[in-house]
Amino acid sequence: MKYLVLLGDGMAGYPLDELGGKTTLAYAKTPNMDYMAAHGKLGRAKTVPKGLPPGSDVANLAVLGYDPAKHYTGRAPLEAASIGVPLGPDDVAFRCNLVTLKHCDRSDSGSESSRRCYMEDFSAGHITTPEAHKLIASIGEALGSDDIKFYPGVSYRHLMVWKGGKDRLECVPPHDITGREIADYMPVGDGSDVIDDLMRRSSGVLKGHDVNKAREEEGKHPANSIWLWGQGKKPSLPPFLEKYGLTGAMISAVDLMKGIAAILGFKVLDVPGATGYIDTNYVGKAEAALKALDDVDFVYVHVEAPDEAGHGGNMEHKVKAIEDFDDKVVGTVMEALKGRPGYRILVMPDHPTPVVLKTHTSDPVPFIIYEPGAEDTSRGHKAYNEEEAERSSLYLEDGYKIMEYLINNGGSGN
Ligand SMILES: [Zn+2]
Repeated sequence: MKYLVLLGDGMAGYPLDELGGKTTLAYAKTPNMDYMAAHGKLGRAKTVPKGLPPGSDVANLAVLGYDPAKHYTGRAPLEAASIGVPLGPDDVAFRCNLVTLKHCDRSDSGSESSRRCYMEDFSAGHITTPEAHKLIASIGEALGSDDIKFYPGVSYRHLMVWKGGKDRLECVPPHDITGREIADYMPVGDGSDVIDDLMRRSSGVLKGHDVNKAREEEGKHPANSIWLWGQGKKPSLPPFLEKYGLTGAMISAVDLMKGIAAILGFKVLDVPGATGYIDTNYVGKAEAALKALDDVDFVYVHVEAPDEAGHGGNMEHKVKAIEDFDDKVVGTVMEALKGRPGYRILVMPDHPTPVVLKTHTSDPVPFIIYEPGAEDTSRGHKAYNEEEAERSSLYLEDGYKIMEYLINNGGSGN
């Protein structure tokens, strides 16, 4: 048996008045996923365990069959793997965003302006990678030391590693505090003084930097501070082959997913034109997955677009992303595998990203398990959406059991 996971990040959501009380998933035209639900299994899985943040890192680890409560150590250690930064046992990795703060002069911590300082843009206007690399190089020169090192990543997402650092402090993701005063969200706990100091001093390094001067002249958001969060030590994740006896491949535009794949021992397949947004190369991803199934037993296709649209609060974009996911990813796969035995497909989101909230929630998500060669209409499901899935008796409280479920008895019985 060969396995395919088609994951629409953040695809689930909440009912919207503008859509007549439907969610974007229920409203979107999804003939392929509806067909799969009607000819396969439909259920719900709680991918985010109680007490953990509903991040894509936690939720995708669960979908891949790893109990986040046991294995999750933070986002940054997973991203470190994606850019090939090795972590020692005492190293703590931090996600280092380049952000735009407003009404800020953090050089004088006592002044009024440093108190009333806002998070204007968690991505510094989706700064380009070449611009960002110049800024991160300057940050590294000014703030780096034997214990503190900065590593350039992609666009606004970079990495800092603190040798022998603290990992128990609380840091807030910047994309959760857009438009809010940062004074209310500064890091707290053991080691927060070190992190706070680095973020504060970064403003001095970035203020008046040539890259920012050019951006401001073009009316773009300057990257005038770093924001550190998502910290953790190296996770101990047993390789997928060892855990499930299957060789695997990952198709995603997102560093986090490439990092998880690297740690699990998957092949990481890059698809030209994969952007992580609604203009991504959907068909290219599906075709690469079908091709990869010739070499490996298991392929994971991660599509970021619905989540980005959810974070942007853009209902039209989210509906479009879901319709394109259904037509160009799921549709391409269904066409190629029509009637062919020996394939089992899991379709699901990792977590909901409701347009009304612009952020993730921990609600259970609807999933489909479908076998092209073993269709079964006995359960009488009509469509793929949250409401229809809630009517199903199939529910996994421990969402990470979805992988075992897919591999062991996806096709037959209950
Ligand atoms: Zn996600």
